[in-house]
Amino acid sequence: MTQQRLFTRLLLAVIVPLVLVTATLWPVLHVHLETQQQNTRSEIRAILKVSENTLWRDINETLSYALAIAEMPTIKALMTKDGKAGLGSPAPEQLTGFLSTLIKHYPRYTKLMLIDNQGVEVLRIPGDTPSDPRLARRDHANTDYFKSASELFARDLYISPPGRNLQYEIFSGEVIPVVNVATPVFDDQGERQGMVLLSLNWQHLTEAVHQAAQMEPTAGVILTDAQGRWLLTERNQQLPPMSFGDDYAQLTDESWQHITGLDKGVLTQENRLLRFQRMDMRRQTHQGLAGHIFSQDDTLPWVLGVSLPNPTWKSLLQDDASVVWFLLLIYSTAVALGIYWAFSSHQQRLLRHQAQQRAIEVSNLYESAPCGYHSLNADGVIIKMNQTELDWLGLTRDAVGYRCYRDFISSDSLLDFDQAFQEVKAGRQGEAECKLVATDGEQRQVVIQSVGYLEQDRFIYSNASVFDITDRKHLEEKLRAQAMTDPLTGVFNRRYLQAQASVEISRASRHQTPISLIAIDIDHFKQINDDYGHDAGDEVLKRFADEIKGLLRQEDLLCRVGGEEFAVLLPNTTLEEAWQVAERIRATVEKAHVSIEHDDTPATITITASFGVTHVASNEKTLKAAIKRADNGLYEAKDTGRNRIVIRKL
Ligand code: GH3
Ligand code: MG
Ligand code: MG
Repeated sequence: MTQQRLFTRLLLAVIVPLVLVTATLWPVLHVHLETQQQNTRSEIRAILKVSENTLWRDINETLSYALAIAEMPTIKALMTKDGKAGLGSPAPEQLTGFLSTLIKHYPRYTKLMLIDNQGVEVLRIPGDTPSDPRLARRDHANTDYFKSASELFARDLYISPPGRNLQYEIFSGEVIPVVNVATPVFDDQGERQGMVLLSLNWQHLTEAVHQAAQMEPTAGVILTDAQGRWLLTERNQQLPPMSFGDDYAQLTDESWQHITGLDKGVLTQENRLLRFQRMDMRRQTHQGLAGHIFSQDDTLPWVLGVSLPNPTWKSLLQDDASVVWFLLLIYSTAVALGIYWAFSSHQQRLLRHQAQQRAIEVSNLYESAPCGYHSLNADGVIIKMNQTELDWLGLTRDAVGYRCYRDFISSDSLLDFDQAFQEVKAGRQGEAECKLVATDGEQRQVVIQSVGYLEQDRFIYSNASVFDITDRKHLEEKLRAQAMTDPLTGVFNRRYLQAQASVEISRASRHQTPISLIAIDIDHFKQINDDYGHDAGDEVLKRFADEIKGLLRQEDLLCRVGGEEFAVLLPNTTLEEAWQVAERIRATVEKAHVSIEHDDTPATITITASFGVTHVASNEKTLKAAIKRADNGLYEAKDTGRNRIVIRKL
């Protein structure tokens, strides 16, 4: 039971702190998480903005160059001349050199071409490499850019979708994605003379987007066309492996649905937060002098997006070890405190239980002690009393508080009690031997030992122990009686005679009353022992004493002073009256028959006794002289035939 309680407490000690700490920390951590998420959103917005700006800047610049080249008088002149002169006329070296320098120094361009109205190349920078058959002069009449740009007005632009293996495209020995930008060339008379075609290195153009994303190592950047085809060329470590041209829309089917429905927005993809916006250069206000921009409908607008890991509880804890340590510290401290509380309260409970047990034991000892305990106030009213003493006095607990203890002291003990109580009230120890009288009248001899409790010399209450000495008193009396009684006959012994004689003598002297003494000796008692045995002799002695007792007054004192010798002290008795008593005894004994069993046969013994009688003189302080006189009388009675009385006067 105790173990179960401890287990429950331990369970609470773990659960409650966890709940409390969680409830306390939750809002703090929640704010922390929201701040992190806020930061992530701001960061995404910043990266997206930079990506967008750099991309537009580079594209605008490129377009401006294309328009500027189309406007160059030397180009126009060349186109006009070539248009008339036909294919194969060499371009002026000065123009070729300028354009070569331009292409060489701006790595975003892969090539520049001038194409006449028939779709035939007029000029190509960088120049041809005869060994490669693919680089032979070509007819561009069937290309998208030719067809589209042929219908454009001055300063209008055609932009192809970014793609690999665009017609006649070779750069640095490998095929890379390019974008073709074409714009028509008109002569000064407004006659269409052909077009300028600039191929842009798409990889180089989008590098700025990657660089913007590198502002934050965990950032991932996406760029797709309107169909969801992946438009980036560099591998992005933070996103699923995508290559240029892969179908991003299919990979992120659900997200893509969301993206296509909005111009810009935020959405969560797995654990990452993606911010995206659609970019349409056809509608973008061109910072240069371009007219309309044309492109294939299914490729624009592009979708540019930046994603960052979305801060979650898990990432928060994983990224910020100090938070984990902080939480661990708080939780373990709380749990440790809880466990400490569980053990200490369990210990306290045990101690309390033990203390209660002790208190009950002490109370039991107090209540049922073999002695009485009580406390009295200054008026002697019982203010506390144990059950033992309540039982002695025949009281119930209701008596406590209003009954006076003195009411239960017998009148002959009151003086002793009052004296002792005065001592106690004075702060000293008090002791009194009293007789308690219960409500039913039963008496009890007790010793009361008491001490007073004083505060600033003022008596407050007493604490008393009450010992029942009734049995002891009885025993004492019994012992005292035994000490002065002859055990065989039950009459007084010699010691008592001597002690009591002085009392009687002084009383007789005080009251001027006579006092007499009779000495008695059984005749031939030895013979009885001899004839019938010692037991028979004892029986005779007992019977002899009984017979005499029956003949005496209450105040007469019969004593066995020797083997078969007795003495009777007769207060308030003259010598004459004493002789009469002796004679009555002698006559009675003589007639008495003592029945005994002797050798299994009943027998009857008769006895006689001899007497010496005297009286105690008024000047005699002890019995010594009187005894001597009575003995003398007795001897004389023996000598003169026994069974007789001899009076000895002074
Ligand atoms: P006398 O008439 O001269 O007194 O003769 P007696 O035999 O009575 O006197 P004696 O003094 O010679 O003998 C006393 C006897 O009493 C001796 C003793 O054996 C006996 N006696 C003394 N005390 C007791 C006793 O307590 N019980 C018994 N059975 N005999 C006792
Ligand atoms: Mg004798
Ligand atoms: Mg005798």
